[in-house]
Amino acid sequence: MEIVRDTVCGELIAWENAAGVLPYQGKLYYFCCRKCYEKFRRSPARFADK
Ligand SMILES: [Zn+2]
Repeated sequence: MEIVRDTVCGELIAWENAAGVLPYQGKLYYFCCRKCYEKFRRSPARFADK
């Protein structure tokens, strides 16, 4: 089981349980809920890893 960090809220989640996943600049980002997913989708540059 892979644990990933939701970059929007900082929560740790298992990627299998992620509510959404988005690719951004060659990386996959996982989200705990649709709210975080939508936030990232709207402004990925704000949340993506530097
Ligand atoms: Zn979240």
